[in-house]
Amino acid sequence: MSSAPLYIVPTPIGNLQDITQRAIDVLSSVAWIAAEDTRHSAKLLQHFCIQAKTLSLHDHNEDKRSQMLCQKLLDGESVALISDAGTPLISDPGYKLVSRCREQGIDVIALPGPCAAITALSASGLATDKFIFEGFLPVKMVARQTALEALNSRPHTTVFYEAPRRVLDTMKDVQAVLGNERHIVLAKELTKTFERYISGSAQTVIDWLTEEPAHQKGEFVLMIDGVQIDQSAIPEDAMALLKRLKSELPLKKAAAVVADHYQLKKNALYQAGLGLE
Ligand code: SAM
Repeated sequence: MSSAPLYIVPTPIGNLQDITQRAIDVLSSVAWIAAEDTRHSAKLLQHFCIQAKTLSLHDHNEDKRSQMLCQKLLDGESVALISDAGTPLISDPGYKLVSRCREQGIDVIALPGPCAAITALSASGLATDKFIFEGFLPVKMVARQTALEALNSRPHTTVFYEAPRRVLDTMKDVQAVLGNERHIVLAKELTKTFERYISGSAQTVIDWLTEEPAHQKGEFVLMIDGVQIDQSAIPEDAMALLKRLKSELPLKKAAAVVADHYQLKKNALYQAGLGLE
């Protein structure tokens, strides 16, 4: 008998209308639905009149459950993996199951669908050409500040998930480590009634969060723009050399040569070179 596929099925992050027709079809047709919290998902499944058998797969039983689910798949019983909300495996369980399926040659079919990070980023107004998703920051302050220090030299947008009970402390750490110059966007309660984007400096976001207690409630995606290179700090003759070399060499190489000659940062020259005609 040939094995059945594992389906990865995203579910809404707030607005039930965001479920896709394909997600409903797959959830209605599989033999099993593995859910992070079966009681939580029961409401969603009931809403869409989906009657498949469910079993739990969460951080504390993923090893054992993955073994059991792989056996079911090898026996030809199809399985769909869902999480409490959004795309499974994105700061949610499922990695062990998917890697085990891959090892055993079981097909894994992922459906596209809701994901808070991508939803927030696409409406943030921050650069989206390159971004880094960091999931949740560490809970302890020192570790959190250390993690944030990496953003001091990162030119790309960074996306974090944050819990309501920590959002204010995290913003205070952002301000302590990165100052008030960076552009922050805090997306709250996406796809829900009180959806909001708060955009501005760390201080602007802190002011808004402390304006009233309700502002700190709900679900948050925190986005921080990349370091903006101060081109005025690059001497004119270095820029002129960069411009000349850029017409003859790949920009990366040209930036490296100029950086070496003038003892400047390669990345700063590379960024500056992107803006040259
Ligand atoms: N797998 C999910 C996804 O695809 O977005 C994320 C799961 S993670 C355990 C939960 C976190 O996602 C929340 O703490 C919050 O940071 C973010 N999140 C989920 N739903 C959200 C929403 N409607 N608005 C803002 N952030 C949300």
